[in-house]
Parts: sequence; structure tokens; C-alpha cells
Amino acid sequence: MAYEVEKTDEQWRAELSPAEYEVLRRAGTEPAFRGEYTDTKTAGVYGCRACGAELFRSTEKFESHCGWPSFFDPKDSSAVELLEDRTHGMVRTEVRCARCGSHLGHVFEGEGYPTPTDQRYCINSISLRLEPEAG
Ligand SMILES: [Zn+2]
Repeated sequence: MAYEVEKTDEQWRAELSPAEYEVLRRAGTEPAFRGEYTDTKTAGVYGCRACGAELFRSTEKFESHCGWPSFFDPKDSSAVELLEDRTHGMVRTEVRCARCGSHLGHVFEGEGYPTPTDQRYCINSISLRLEPEAG
């Protein structure tokens, strides 16, 4: 699949920090409860740290206590791409940025969180950059 933003591995390595590269381009996972946005309640829009595409909003962020920023819905369903992930002996749904294909995290559903969708987009802080609302 072709993405709107395509870069070589070398370019990504040059533009991202080693920790960002590991998660965004190698589908790594940041340690639980360490990410900078885990408990953030600031109003604003979370963009992709790799390409800047708007992905999630603070209005859909909720406290899941799972150790990573959690959202019950993306900003637009077309902003993210969902792929089956069979690594680590599990079947999970990987969430990627639809614009550049960078790894964001995974989405889980049916866990019983009291949210409108019963879905939990479990996203690495390091994959995101919060643009606080003006004012
Ligand atoms: Zn992106």
C-alpha cells in the first residue's frame, strides 16, 4: 500500500530520535506509565509525530489506567489504518497513521470501558505530538 508520505528508512532515521524511530517505524512499544501523554488532560489535537497528520482529540481521550494514552475513537476514521497483527503469539489490531504508515499502537474492544464505542485505542505517547488548543 502506498502512503501519501513515503520516506526511506534512512530519512526516517535522520528525522526521528532513536526512541521515536523504534516505535513509529519498527512497531516498538514504549514502557507503560512512562509516556509523556499517559495522564494528559490538556485540550487539543494529537498529531502523528512522524508526519503531523491529525489523529486523535483530547475529547475522545479517557482514563483507562493501562499505562498508555487511550482514546475511544480517532479524530476521523480515515486518519488511521487498522491491520491484523499476529506478532508475539497474539492476534491484535495494529493502529497506523493512514498518511505515513507509522506505527501508533493497538486497538482493543469489548473490554467494558464506559465509553461510547467500547474501544480502546492504546497509543504510544511517543507516536503523538499534542497541539494544545489556542486560548
Ligand atoms: Zn503519520
